[in-house]
Amino acid sequence: MLKIKDVKFTLKKYKYDKPFHITGGISDESTNVEVVIKCENGIEGFGEASPSFRVNGEKPEMIIALENFVKTTLIDLSITNYRKIFDITDKLFAIPSLKAALQFATLDAFSKNFNLQVYQLLGGAKDFIVTDKTAGIDTVEDRIKEIRKIIDDGFEFIKIKVGENLKEDIDTMLKVKNIIKDKKIIIDANMGYTAKQALYFVNQLYREGIDVDVFEQPVYMKDIEGLKYVRFNSPYPVAADESAKTKYDVLNLIKMDSVDYINIKLMKSGISDALAIVEMAKSANKKLMIGCMGESSIGINQSVHFALGTGAFEFCDLDSHLMIKDDNFRGNFIQDGAFMRAKIS
Ligand code: MN
Repeated sequence: MLKIKDVKFTLKKYKYDKPFHITGGISDESTNVEVVIKCENGIEGFGEASPSFRVNGEKPEMIIALENFVKTTLIDLSITNYRKIFDITDKLFAIPSLKAALQFATLDAFSKNFNLQVYQLLGGAKDFIVTDKTAGIDTVEDRIKEIRKIIDDGFEFIKIKVGENLKEDIDTMLKVKNIIKDKKIIIDANMGYTAKQALYFVNQLYREGIDVDVFEQPVYMKDIEGLKYVRFNSPYPVAADESAKTKYDVLNLIKMDSVDYINIKLMKSGISDALAIVEMAKSANKKLMIGCMGESSIGINQSVHFALGTGAFEFCDLDSHLMIKDDNFRGNFIQDGAFMRAKIS
């Protein structure tokens, strides 16, 4: 028995290096909530919630307002029975980023108590993962500059945001065609296109010989028929991100056979649903990628350990902490350019 003695929430604000523009919003900062679970033996587990209003309808204020409720609910439970804590926090489905932070903090405390790291507790499948870097929406010239810089910085995996202006999106892709040809490319429309626009976009790229490894969330999150239509008419694999928040969403996507890839984000699913989605995807022969919201290094740490532990991901899009101005690195992993390595113990 290792009882929880206290739970603490702290609001944190992080500025981005430059405003991050995607379909549906521009943000120049990220407001997160750090969670600490303290056990009676003094061990502390750390988590971070990075709430997304755009995707999940949640705000940091909602999380802060729940501090006392969470405290009274979790105090005296034992972290060694962590499934019980997962089952209770599963009820926080309206605030999934808080669910993620509490579940990870529980695993963090649990693993520390047994002298392990979370990735080992989750299976220890990999020693390292490689992240992409994201180019946001901007003028065509600035998008080209940014993609060039990402390549110069040594990234082999590049995510390119599209979805606000079809013509400029195509123009950008044609102009970077030669510099991205030996890179892995994820295109993310963040729900910005209709199914027909999405097909027009991919057909223009395909005709020019541009290779896209994943085409992410071309259409609105609730438009599962549209997603399926794009999937079966696109030359490139299609991924669900905003459409795939919970294991129930993923069950439906699998039943409908709407996508090739699921983008798991702990901030949408927590650890419990993310673990379920990994197994569901394997059973249905779907591929997986892992993404992030606006986590700092302490929050990205959660997804790095999840990805290392399960070894389930073809693509890792874990770069939010790399966009934060003066991120005081607090991850329990080694960031080495695009590589994120486990601290072997
Ligand atoms: Mn996405």
